[in-house]
Amino acid sequence: MLASVRNRRKLQATMSKRTKSLRGRLTSLVIVAIFGAVGIVTLSSIWRETVQFSEGKRTELYASANVFAAAVSDSVAGGDKDGALDALRAISFIPTIDYVRVDAADGSLFAELGGEGATASGEWADMFPENSPMSMLLSQSAVARVPVLDGGQEIATLTLHADTGSLSQRIGVLVYDALAAAIFAGGIGLLIALKMQRAITDPIMGLVRVMSRVRESGDFSARAELVENDETGQLVETFNTMLDHIQERDSKLQAHQRDLKKVVEQRTRQLRIAKESAEAANVAKSDFLATMSHEIRTPMNGMLAMADLLSKAPLAPRYKRYAEVIAKSGQSLLAIINDVLDFSKIEAGRLELEKIPVRPADIVDDVVSLFWERAASKHVDLAAFVSANTPEEIEGDPVRISQVLSNLVNNALKFTEQGHVLVGVDYKPGAGGRTPMLEFSVVDTGVGIPQDKQAAIFEAFSQADQTTTRRYGGTGLGLAISRRLVEAMSGDIGLVSKPGKGSRFFFTMKTKMLAPPRAVRRTKEDKRAIIAIDGDATPKMLAHYLRESGVMTTIVEQDAEFGALIACADMIFASPTFYHAYQKSIEKGRAQWIPARVCICELGDTAPDTLVENGVVEDILLAPLSRREVMEQIERVFDARLRGKAALAGAEPPSPSYPTFRGQRVLAADDSAVNREVVKEALARLNLEPTLANDGREAVRLAQAGKFDLILMDCSMPEMDGYEATHAIRALEKLGKLKPTPIIALSAHVAGKEDAWRSAGMNDYLTKPFTLETLAAVLSKHLEAGGGEFVRELSDAATAIAENPVFDRAVMDQIAAIQSSGADLPLRTLNLFEEHSRKAMRDLIEALKTGNGSAVTHAAHALKSMSANIGAVRLAAACGALERAAADGESAAALARLGKTAASEFREAHKMLPRLMAKYKRSAA
Ligand code: ADP
Repeated sequence: MLASVRNRRKLQATMSKRTKSLRGRLTSLVIVAIFGAVGIVTLSSIWRETVQFSEGKRTELYASANVFAAAVSDSVAGGDKDGALDALRAISFIPTIDYVRVDAADGSLFAELGGEGATASGEWADMFPENSPMSMLLSQSAVARVPVLDGGQEIATLTLHADTGSLSQRIGVLVYDALAAAIFAGGIGLLIALKMQRAITDPIMGLVRVMSRVRESGDFSARAELVENDETGQLVETFNTMLDHIQERDSKLQAHQRDLKKVVEQRTRQLRIAKESAEAANVAKSDFLATMSHEIRTPMNGMLAMADLLSKAPLAPRYKRYAEVIAKSGQSLLAIINDVLDFSKIEAGRLELEKIPVRPADIVDDVVSLFWERAASKHVDLAAFVSANTPEEIEGDPVRISQVLSNLVNNALKFTEQGHVLVGVDYKPGAGGRTPMLEFSVVDTGVGIPQDKQAAIFEAFSQADQTTTRRYGGTGLGLAISRRLVEAMSGDIGLVSKPGKGSRFFFTMKTKMLAPPRAVRRTKEDKRAIIAIDGDATPKMLAHYLRESGVMTTIVEQDAEFGALIACADMIFASPTFYHAYQKSIEKGRAQWIPARVCICELGDTAPDTLVENGVVEDILLAPLSRREVMEQIERVFDARLRGKAALAGAEPPSPSYPTFRGQRVLAADDSAVNREVVKEALARLNLEPTLANDGREAVRLAQAGKFDLILMDCSMPEMDGYEATHAIRALEKLGKLKPTPIIALSAHVAGKEDAWRSAGMNDYLTKPFTLETLAAVLSKHLEAGGGEFVRELSDAATAIAENPVFDRAVMDQIAAIQSSGADLPLRTLNLFEEHSRKAMRDLIEALKTGNGSAVTHAAHALKSMSANIGAVRLAAACGALERAAADGESAAALARLGKTAASEFREAHKMLPRLMAKYKRSAA
């Protein structure tokens, strides 16, 4: 539209200009034509006049010359000059002849008559032949030369000059006439031109005027006037037709615009209604989810906490197992509910990411540790690899990064039956103006995913293969949540996979580096290491770290190879099995040179104890291997600072214990009887006897009556909910009727209301279902621990081991902690162990004798479980090794050797039993 208006304006401007120039040209054309015609006519007349004049003049001149030549012939022949002059004087009767002369045959002047100047000729005239029209015109003279004959013989020459000045006069008259005629014709021509102009340009000017009007007013109803039916008339008609079309189109367009407006208004109305109803549905959905989550979580809270307590109670193994299954299934159900809630929260756009310092290596290590047990139980090698350029610290949301990584590792382990799962992190610096990214990856050797299914698995509720789902379980939400989380972190998630070979999942995240990578210490010496550990990923990762430190590394798989390589190694990183072989080679005197020896074992594995005590092993590195620990270990090897027996303390896990808050007064408000029971029982573990309230109103009343040190407040309760109750208590505090008391919200993690507790004036919150650890942690933030302290320190565990390496005392302490009433539980447990372990040992020996592998597995497992239950860790480890060896179909001799170790540990444990029993007898009393 705009373009067509612009074109129209251009056209009008051009037309107006053209019209003006047409007028000028028309006038000039008429004048030039008239003057041209007059000029041509005049020139041709002048020419004709000149030619006629010159021819006449020449003829006349020669005729006169011949007459005079005859007249002077006798005088010249007789030499009579006077006679000749007399004859020549007759020339004066011819008016145009002004000069005559006679030259004798020898060239001398014989007689002459007339003016001197008459013979002079013009400069221009010399360019033309003598007596030619142009010569006569320019020189204004003509010449005739004739011989003077006497008896037929030439005796002299007579020359006659005539004046042709009359020719230019005649031409002047001609030019004057022509000019007068031209002016007259020009006047007539101008009149004609003006008439023509009006006929041609007036319609065009009219056209231009109409165009301007159309342009200025946008009124397409204007029309140019049709004057005549000639070419300009056709132009006007075409223009008017064009305006007709434009006007028609314009009115159609306006009509369409009106319709469109109506349609848009209608659609907007419909959309608004649809949007409002979608929003209402979304709010309803969120409310439904919130209520549902609360409703599901409240009974689950009771179920899970009770199952947890039950599984830790002294029960017959079978019932204990039932309780464990309930607790475990409950946890899975909770995980699924959390997934669904998480997903709907992300969908509703309520995802908020934290931006705090994060150590990427720690995240990888933590996730690997979390899944280590599960991987070990499947005999899948789970390893971590942190590349050398990974920053020490970045900015990010550690919980969300761990969530995505855990989800990928969980899937990898779910779909991998053998081989390995490698969890890695690598830094991609922003070369070429790109954003620096951190890439986490999880590589597995599992079932893999067909190409055509790969894109779909990131969609919600979608799984690659329904049969695998039936086998492995899952909701199909994990990757969908992961994708959304990664996108929120400005990253990408993807995979490469081949069915039957395995998969590599990766995700990137935009990275702001807070601390650079830690420098790697490289040795300049020629150092060699051998690695002899099981698994196909862990040895490679360790070798990689060693090579980064400048150590040449060989991975060995066979005992024999190991023995051969020892001689040239500076350091050995091997599992206990290899060290036993090494020990033998020393005994046989084969080892010629002693390298630094580091044993790689799992947390709680007691196998290296004797190796350390015998001096076969000089240090211990715990699997799963973390980059930081491996690098520290390599540095210890470089500096010859191996820890020896001190390493054993580091090998034991710190034992969890809970603080006791004896003497503190706690009020717990919850409307659910089950939850009240759970809270009461859990608080009893921490030596607290709570006062219980059934709703908010009662809580306020009790708070007023008693002096509490802390209040646990359920958020949603009938009558008066936790928020209102808190408001009421805070108001009383303000009036000075109550001392300020910390209030902890007990919430079932209602979606979207996480911060409500804070605005209600509560001090902290505890999500249901809670564990003893989380309860103790939140209480210790707000209550002073009375008499008990948080015994999480490693040094205590180390002392316990140093005093009594056969038993892990923390386990018995835990049993004592579980039992809130009737403090004889530890004693009863020890008694049961004494009684049943003897039978179990007998069964084991019997099975070893018969050489029945499955019977050995079974008996070793039974003894392992009961000894682990009371903290007889060495015996449990020995039985565990035997169980694995029997399950792996090891030779009878190997089983017998392991059986001997188990028997000796059995004796050691039994030696310690009376002392332990005495201790718990005392505390029972
Ligand atoms: P689910 O809870 O079912 O595991 P996910 O979204 O985490 O849901 O995974 C979706 C599907 O992707 C899985 O059901 C499985 O078919 C496929 N999948 C995910 N990870 C792997 C893997 N490492 N190897 C093979 N298949 C995988």
